[in-house]
Amino acid sequence: MTRALRVAIVGSGPSGMYAADALASQDDVPVSVDVLDALPVPFGLVRYGVAPDHLSIRSVRDTLDKVLDKPGVRFIGNVEVGRDVQVAELHDYFDAVIFTYGASRDRRLGIEGEDLDGSVAATDFVAWYCGHPDADRATFERLLPSATSAVVVGVGNVAVDVSRVLAKTVDELGHTDMPQHVLDTLARSQITDIHILGRRGPAQATFTTKELRELGELADADIIVDPNEVVLDAASEALVASDKAVARNVDVIRGWAGRGPTGKPRRIHLRFLARPVALSGDERVREVTVEATELDGSGGVRGTGRMSTIPADLVVRSVGYRGTALPGVPFDAQSNVIPHHEGRVVRDGTVIPGEYVAGWIKRGPTGIIGTNKKDAAASVASLLADAGTLPQAPHASVEAFDALLDGRGIHVVDTPGWRSIDAAERRLGAERERDRTTIHDRDHLLAAATE
Ligand code: NAP
Repeated sequence: MTRALRVAIVGSGPSGMYAADALASQDDVPVSVDVLDALPVPFGLVRYGVAPDHLSIRSVRDTLDKVLDKPGVRFIGNVEVGRDVQVAELHDYFDAVIFTYGASRDRRLGIEGEDLDGSVAATDFVAWYCGHPDADRATFERLLPSATSAVVVGVGNVAVDVSRVLAKTVDELGHTDMPQHVLDTLARSQITDIHILGRRGPAQATFTTKELRELGELADADIIVDPNEVVLDAASEALVASDKAVARNVDVIRGWAGRGPTGKPRRIHLRFLARPVALSGDERVREVTVEATELDGSGGVRGTGRMSTIPADLVVRSVGYRGTALPGVPFDAQSNVIPHHEGRVVRDGTVIPGEYVAGWIKRGPTGIIGTNKKDAAASVASLLADAGTLPQAPHASVEAFDALLDGRGIHVVDTPGWRSIDAAERRLGAERERDRTTIHDRDHLLAAATE
């Protein structure tokens, strides 16, 4: 090929940015990379998923941002693939397409009352407190000031994030980039009790120790663990012996068990062997029915039939993220991922030339941000190995693609546009002596992009 290989990356979260980095950091194949995103701003879950009070993890965006400075890499924001431009059309403008659009939807509990008012997905709550433009602001502004007891279902890191945000004082969150309306609403929260429910035992919880420990270090919240629920069977003991991370978790939880409340105004009840079986209420959720479970000796649990109830006027379902299908792209509806072979997208067992996948939509919603670096590099290695045999796109130039989007009247936010938003957010933050404040409104983001 006499020209640079044109590559479209669909999704500018960590896996998309790491894929762009892997492409731009090699010399074997000259590349020209457009990173597309439906949102006017880049970085996906680093911006809209990582908890705003986790400043060091959030600073990953500075690393991702540097990729946009690399020659040949462009950000093309506010362009939704599947709506503004179809996947089949991308093949006219790009020699290769990498799908890195993640897993942004919530998994369901499948229990009675799940859709009652006051029962929300953690994905939606997180999107709201991170200032996502599509977040349902009215719902959270109504629910939080009128709730006193919250149940968070799940014991992963997202459940810990959500519980910590609900339990922290606004003083503890004031330095973050949360939009002001989020801080104001959290300040009006009446929540005194947060019940975190793990359906299995402490050895099976998926949170990490650093995140777990933070729950015991909050200014206004005690952590309460029932020693009777810190039960390890032989399988759990074996896990503790073989896995240092599990051992550390169990150690921290044991340290809390039996420690009574110290009189702080809020309490986090960290529960195990407790699975929700129904939500009930009137016009809004009021109660969660919980069945006690027991370990079955092989890492799972079985129900005991012993039921109890927890008062709850807010239920946050934090049982994992879920990937969704993109029109025209193969999708495995069982595991909610794009089927692939070594990062090459596969339809009915056959590789589709020029289509690749990386990140959560490739392997499911697991791992830390850094996991995506290796994962994206592996998919890019497959792409580069194929470079000589890829079908060449007929309109493979930046000018042709820009003309297509322009002709459709799309207000594209490019890298300079994002830099302008970035500067506006820093200015907004400086007004209140913060590093930055997230602009949550889409129109304001688009306006800031052209300032
Ligand atoms: P996760 O770690 O998979 O946790 C999901 C939790 O939901 C598990 O406790 C699971 O229990 C529970 N669950 C699933 N179905 C359930 C049901 N029907 N009833 C009751 N409980 C149910 O997912 P996540 O917390 O959404 O996190 C996603 C990924 O992002 C993880 O890799 C996580 O580490 C990462 N993340 C990292 C950070 C950080 O590093 N600070 C922050 C946020 C997220 P079972 O195990 O019994 O299925």
